Amino acid sequence: MIPFLDLKKINEPYETAFQEKLKSVLEGGWYILGNEVETFENNFAHYCGTKHCIGTGNGLDALVLIFKGYIQLGKLNEGDEVIVPANTYVASILAILQADLVPVLVEPKLETYNINPELIVEKITQKTKAILAVHIYGQLAEMDAINIIAFENNLLVIEDAAQAHGAVTISNTKIPNSDVELEANQKSKIVNQQSAIAYSFYPGKNLGALGDAGAVVTNDSELAKVIRSLRNYGSETKYYNDYIGVNSRLDEIQAAFLNVKLPHLDADNEKRRVIARRYIAEIKNDKITLPFYDNSANHVFHLFVIRTSNRAELQNYLSENGIQTVIHYPVPPHKQKALKQYNLLSLPITEKIHDEVLSLPVNPVITMSEVDYIIEILNKF
Ligand SMILES: *Cc1c(COP(=O)(O)O)cnc(C)c1O
Repeated sequence: MIPFLDLKKINEPYETAFQEKLKSVLEGGWYILGNEVETFENNFAHYCGTKHCIGTGNGLDALVLIFKGYIQLGKLNEGDEVIVPANTYVASILAILQADLVPVLVEPKLETYNINPELIVEKITQKTKAILAVHIYGQLAEMDAINIIAFENNLLVIEDAAQAHGAVTISNTKIPNSDVELEANQKSKIVNQQSAIAYSFYPGKNLGALGDAGAVVTNDSELAKVIRSLRNYGSETKYYNDYIGVNSRLDEIQAAFLNVKLPHLDADNEKRRVIARRYIAEIKNDKITLPFYDNSANHVFHLFVIRTSNRAELQNYLSENGIQTVIHYPVPPHKQKALKQYNLLSLPITEKIHDEVLSLPVNPVITMSEVDYIIEILNKF
């Protein structure tokens, strides 16, 4: 069986380094918000090209803390509307709800699976205060268009990059009023220099810990300060509480593991792209629609998502031939039992995507002969 994602194999090369890190944390005797967390925050901020990184307990909390941070700063208020893609993992929407804000769902483009910027404007009301862009499956959303809409309508832009660590864009847009000089054509891992971006380091993500972990990156120093406090009981100085905070700190040992893996992220993403390019060039089957890819570094192929109208049949066939696949995701957020208030919405493109998508194995540890085999089997379907 070719597994969809063999996490043990992904982490195997780092075992000795992990053991050394564990030993040093044990010897240090400091378990919460220590050197490893601080080092990772510096490393990841540097990697993203941002001023600040704040480690959090997981990716969902990273998103929630961005919203709560903006609420503390008076830039968002309870009941404000936040535009969010309808085609996303449910966490994006839960984060908005957990901050007492109102998600407004917008359809994606069928080709890219990402939010359709042209459909955002008609959803903007007096109450709209932010756009949560999601880089679904690892491909950056159309941030230039989104940033312009946000600027014209005075909206905050927040990014859910839980699936897109290391995706790079070349932006031609100058971000107005930015406190950071963004040169035209600057190569930047952060798209909107004003925005706050949430990451998850859940084990299966492109940069994965050995447990739960997440982070916020931003250039907004005020926001960074508030989130740093909010994640730690709303306290900057121990036993003095400025906000009604939460306990969502990046774990010291997970940070240590992430410090080992971060230097390998770009090479891992390139391996994913090599496999994706082969799939795109060599899968030739009328029954299968391949994902859109512009061949740039704006996609890190967290997932390689194909579409077919006979999904159950295809998934069965692949399984019988020893190839494990996964559906991302079988039920769209607006059809979930948990989101009853959205159940009656009609979002045909999102629903079509959820009915037809299937994710093929793409990760840094599958071999080229396994890729050969997967392509051969798909072409015979
Ligand atoms: C994984 C994921 C999250 C949540 O991350 P956790 O660390 O599991 O909380 C949020 N948004 C998207 C798009 C994700 O894929």
